[in-house]
Amino acid sequence: MKLAELSASIAHEVSHPLTSVLTSSNACQRWLKANPPNIERALLAIERITRAANAACDVVNHIRALSTQPGVTRELVAPQSLVEEARDLMADDASRYFVRMELAVESDLPSIVVDRIQIRQVLVNLIRNGLEAMEFVPRSRVLRMSVECTDHTVRFAISDCGMGLKFPDRIFEPFFTTKFQGMGMGLAICRAIADAHGGRLFAKQNDPYGTTFELALPFEVPSLPEVVEPSGSTL
Ligand code: ADP
Repeated sequence: MKLAELSASIAHEVSHPLTSVLTSSNACQRWLKANPPNIERALLAIERITRAANAACDVVNHIRALSTQPGVTRELVAPQSLVEEARDLMADDASRYFVRMELAVESDLPSIVVDRIQIRQVLVNLIRNGLEAMEFVPRSRVLRMSVECTDHTVRFAISDCGMGLKFPDRIFEPFFTTKFQGMGMGLAICRAIADAHGGRLFAKQNDPYGTTFELALPFEVPSLPEVVEPSGSTL
């Protein structure tokens, strides 16, 4: 990713939690100025501020890691926990969009070695796009998420019943957006993160409507530990 794109990507990823910080700060002030002040509500708003500020810090640190050595922030993670964290982070947004989120996770999934925050960020972005795609659809709004494993690959799918893709060939280009206030960096970052993990991110149209994004991440089949001779040479 080039420098201009990287800066734009950081701006994109932190703007969402920063907006939450502002909204919750305003709410907090209102609760404290009320007569009598509502301390309980104010404390809840402060909790939301802390959560959002932490999310912004995480994002900055891990996007920065995109441009530094690969591998340093990788850890062994259960795929189910990644998708559950992303779903929980987006739960308030989903209820604002009147969307029901459904999650199906295959049992006995292998763990994967990934940058947890980056992959969670990809899933959060895909969920947010799915919610936005259903904003004006006149049918019941369901976002289906699934995780399964085939061919040594863990596959996350996020499927909406929204308006579908108008420009399927362009959506992964940096700065391509069809949204009034969009920045067009979300999917470009998501694809860069998928590539950096040796994985793939692609979209397909649903029949009869909507879009499914699939993030496919390879996992390594554990090999037998190497036997090392006392001299240090490997057998
Ligand atoms: P932004 O959300 O800022 O527009 P993205 O890179 O996330 O940036 O998305 C680029 C474009 O891809 C969107 O403007 C939209 O046209 C299209 N898109 C992404 N996700 C979906 C979806 N789930 N359904 C329909 N169109 C989508």
